[in-house]
Amino acid sequence: MRGRERAYIALGSNLGDRAEHLAAARAALDALPRTRLVAQSAVEETAPLGSREQPPYLNQMVLLETALEPRALLAACQAIERSRGRVRTERWGPRTLDLDIVRYGDRRIDEPDLIIPHPQLSHRDFWIRELTELGGS
Ligand code: AMP
Repeated sequence: MRGRERAYIALGSNLGDRAEHLAAARAALDALPRTRLVAQSAVEETAPLGSREQPPYLNQMVLLETALEPRALLAACQAIERSRGRVRTERWGPRTLDLDIVRYGDRRIDEPDLIIPHPQLSHRDFWIRELTELGGS
């Protein structure tokens, strides 16, 4: 599709009905303007990162074709997080829904509030597995 780029988005949830939060996120991403969800990895359960006691996560990665620029996509992801009741408290803390832009085409962005590829990519085995499953790297 012309003018569209491939963006990989990581979904995570460890509060409430986790599978339902992921399903709502997939539907909301697919419904974004000039965007469609073209593939999704398997959902997997992972142990929480960070020191605080918190429940395990459900994680999944999706592949979007989108004409939204990275910053617009980030704003859209944050709006979807808010719509699922996410309250930002502490870093690494529990969350109903977390959306991260892992890759956006071949772009490299290094700004205070947006880093692409996502800086945690090389540290999260499950992201690397999910990316590989979707044919990315
Ligand atoms: P988190 O607590 O993991 O949801 O981190 C949220 C913050 O990370 C937001 O304030 C974003 O501006 C910032 N951020 C930087 N790079 C990215 C990215 N590639 N995807 C999502 N959020 C990002």
